[in-house]
Amino acid sequence: MALDFSKHPCFNPDVKGKFGRVHLPVAPKCNIQCGYCNRKYDCVNESRPGVTSNVLSPGQALYYVNDLVESGKPISVVGIAGPGDPFANPEQTMETLRLIRKRHPDMLLCVSTNGLGVGPYIAELAALEVSHITITMNAIDPEIGAKVYSWVREDKKPLRGLEAAELLLQRQIQAMKAIKAHGITLKINTILIPGVNDEHLDAVASFAKSEGADLHNIIPLCPVEGTKFEDFEEPTPAQIHAARDIAGQYMPQMTHCQRCRADACGLLAEGTTQETLNLIEKAAN
Ligand code: SF4
Ligand code: SF4
Repeated sequence: MALDFSKHPCFNPDVKGKFGRVHLPVAPKCNIQCGYCNRKYDCVNESRPGVTSNVLSPGQALYYVNDLVESGKPISVVGIAGPGDPFANPEQTMETLRLIRKRHPDMLLCVSTNGLGVGPYIAELAALEVSHITITMNAIDPEIGAKVYSWVREDKKPLRGLEAAELLLQRQIQAMKAIKAHGITLKINTILIPGVNDEHLDAVASFAKSEGADLHNIIPLCPVEGTKFEDFEEPTPAQIHAARDIAGQYMPQMTHCQRCRADACGLLAEGTTQETLNLIEKAAN
């Protein structure tokens, strides 16, 4: 059966009220530390990437998707977006995608990553018909990247400062090229961090365009307790509009992102509901 790519509500806003996505929280670890992320902080009202109520095994994730489909939820996309990075947990991520592709052949598959570890898996992702990949790229200048990332871990050794930012950038560029060489739709997420990368978004957008990226999603910083940027001001709507106007000269801009949790489920406008949390709880036990 041919997959219908128009049913992805993040890439096609026309269907956002009709088709939903589910994020499967199968990837707990991360291989970098972004200055805006604190995955320890979780509450039911929390709505942002990196947060989930439970972590599922691949088998539990399949059970959960089966339940969701049987319950009639209008899910057209299964994505993996954490709560860490999918490719800091490649066994869990790839096994989950294999199980879902086998059991739900008409489901769109999507992953969202920082780009550090995805490279070796891109050929298999393409073979599994993963049609949409997002890389979060906050800088194409390592000097700026060094302000965003506290560390980047290659094997067991954490790198810091410029060395860390350079490695991450190099891997992101390699991944972008391979993703496009395999004909996969590529979205770039950029967190707008006032005073850090707000003057740099046009450079990120123009570079992403030159590498063949399809869509750009500028996400305002959400200052979270216990992070390097906890005392930063959240960008105002005017700052976000201005950033999208500038970056929009190079790349189509996504404007309906909901900053979903790693266990988000349903239409984009729906938060994580108690019903969803109950189904995840059921799958986890
Ligand atoms: Fe958090 Fe994602 Fe950054 Fe890892 S890549 S530190 S999970 S925001
Ligand atoms: Fe779509 Fe944004 Fe939610 Fe990701 S975080 S699933 S891009 S709405």
